[in-house]
Amino acid sequence: STQPSATAGGCDRIFGLETEYGLSVGGTDRTLDISQVAMTMFQPVVQRARSTNTYLDNGSRLYLDVGSHPEYATAEARTPFDAMLADAAGESIMRTMALETQARLRAQAGERATIHLFKNNADSAGHSYGCHENYLVRRYVDLRAIQTQLLPFLITRQIYTGAGRFDGDHWTYTQRARFVDETVSSATTRSRPMINTRDEPHADPESFRRLHVIIGDSNRSQWATMVKCATTHLVLGSMEHAARTGVPSGLERLEMADPVQANLEVNEHGPDAMIDLADGTRMSALEMQRLAWRVIERFAHSHAHELDASLQGDPVWTPHSVLDAWRWVLDRLEAHDIDALAQVVDWACKRRFFARLEERGPVGPMRIAQLDLDYHDVANGTLYEAMVRHGLMRVYADPQQVARAVHTPPERTRAVLRGRFVQRAQQAGVRHVCDWTQVQVLEPEKRTVQLLDPFDSEGTPEYYDLMASLA
Ligand code: ATP
Ligand code: MG
Ligand code: MG
Repeated sequence: STQPSATAGGCDRIFGLETEYGLSVGGTDRTLDISQVAMTMFQPVVQRARSTNTYLDNGSRLYLDVGSHPEYATAEARTPFDAMLADAAGESIMRTMALETQARLRAQAGERATIHLFKNNADSAGHSYGCHENYLVRRYVDLRAIQTQLLPFLITRQIYTGAGRFDGDHWTYTQRARFVDETVSSATTRSRPMINTRDEPHADPESFRRLHVIIGDSNRSQWATMVKCATTHLVLGSMEHAARTGVPSGLERLEMADPVQANLEVNEHGPDAMIDLADGTRMSALEMQRLAWRVIERFAHSHAHELDASLQGDPVWTPHSVLDAWRWVLDRLEAHDIDALAQVVDWACKRRFFARLEERGPVGPMRIAQLDLDYHDVANGTLYEAMVRHGLMRVYADPQQVARAVHTPPERTRAVLRGRFVQRAQQAGVRHVCDWTQVQVLEPEKRTVQLLDPFDSEGTPEYYDLMASLA
């Protein structure tokens, strides 16, 4: 490869967002088996790929496990904006699949049959499904620092990244907090850890790990999607620097006495949640975020060059604008300025809407729960779209950009190579499979090319040989 890859010493990052969606059907008297509906939704995928697990020409992975939670995992992105755009493309792909399924369903189950596809993290029956953030991290950051320095940041950032949820009788700040019950672990079946340490780096395992963040909500707000990636990126940068040099990052102060309890407190009380720290003191969630901000501001000053380089090409974010947005949201939280927050923070957007609604008369809990869900419905929801239309929720990617991202991988990562491969193989009608680290044709004979470096969008001679064989 001619393109210099990320160095172990720099701040370059890979971002990936996995989103599981919740599926339900309304408007019909018949009781439908939801996993059957999900299979119908994936019928075109199965026809094309002979599997419910496939990679698309934008480099992403589209997937249906047993059950009824279709998943979209974005391709590897280099910047928060690209990660958000790839995730928005996922919403669009899911929406198209859902509406096609709805059209087919109406033929059997009646003209009013309606598919709901929720980009949220909890259904009314109390099942939870995830939104995982993936970050490429230098391996010399040890798991203890992740537990004691990163986790407190992740738990308290929910005060501005939380999607909010009406819990039957009151509002919580997050969708997901109630459903994670462990801190840092490699298990996902029995328990739900906040950070999964299963060691699958999808990159050079000597240099990197893939940090797999489970604690976090699916966001409709594009701002929230970007800001959670961007702030976490800077925090990881400062932790990498600390691990490399042996100089404390300053985030050590944030170590919590009981992260599981703290997470529940943040869910209930948001910025005002009081958190017991490991050193015996107490701090509010908001104060903890302020402390993290100050640490990162200092770090950004002394590492301006590396950080600037890591966000190169992002149309919205520089280290400076990330810090500005972060401080802005903390100031607005401190001022309880729900109107300002509502333009970018999901929980605040919903809360303001319901406050306005209740000014006009009482709204029952059933109605609130239903409208709460509507906000997250990417297939037939109207609330979020109305917010955007009326300028009450800000968007950063226009519909043309999203439409393009449905078929275009994020730039400057191996997703470019994967996407081109999928497109070529599909055009040639050749059976093929992908993985994050390889592409493979299955006929006329099996041939595999490794894509081990996630930062490499140039490709190896072997890659071009394989591509030529498909021409
Ligand atoms: P599960 O669905 O069981 O949680 P998983 O998290 O291991 O599985 P995927 O659902 O396939 O795996 O998603 C992987 C995500 O990691 C994708 O969004 C992808 O873009 C991202 N990714 C791939 N390689 C890297 C890497 N080297 N560093 C960080 N993220 C990566
Ligand atoms: Mg996944
Ligand atoms: Mg995952």
